Order: sequence, then C-alpha cells, then structure tokens
Amino acid sequence: MKVKCSLCDKVETLDNQDPTAKKLRNRPIHTYMCSDCHERIKLRTEERHATGNFSLYRGRAENDDW
Ligand SMILES: [Zn+2]
Repeated sequence: MKVKCSLCDKVETLDNQDPTAKKLRNRPIHTYMCSDCHERIKLRTEERHATGNFSLYRGRAENDDW
C-alpha cells in the first residue's frame, strides 16, 4: 500500500505484511510518519526531556487536578 508522510508529504510504499501497514488499515486516522521524520521527532522529544521542559509541564498538569 502507498502511504504519505503527514509531515513532509513523502510517499512511500509499505509491504502489506508490514506491521505499520496493518496498523494504518485498521486505524485510518493514524497518521503515517516516514522513518526520517520519525527519527527527527524522536530526537526532538529526547532534547525536550534533557532541557527539563517536559517535567515542568508534567508538574503543572498534576497541579491542575486540585
Ligand atoms: Zn516525513
């Protein structure tokens, strides 16, 4: 099946046996990310963890429960 990356619009062909292809068929709302973008997002998330912004956000969210 053909899939389009939701971030960079790159079109890739997935094997029908590919777990990602199965996931997309079962849940069409699930957006596809090519490996390049996937890697980029992963790095960015790790950077955010490193700066401490992530824990700051979590702390605020926990306070909202009061
Ligand atoms: Zn992409």
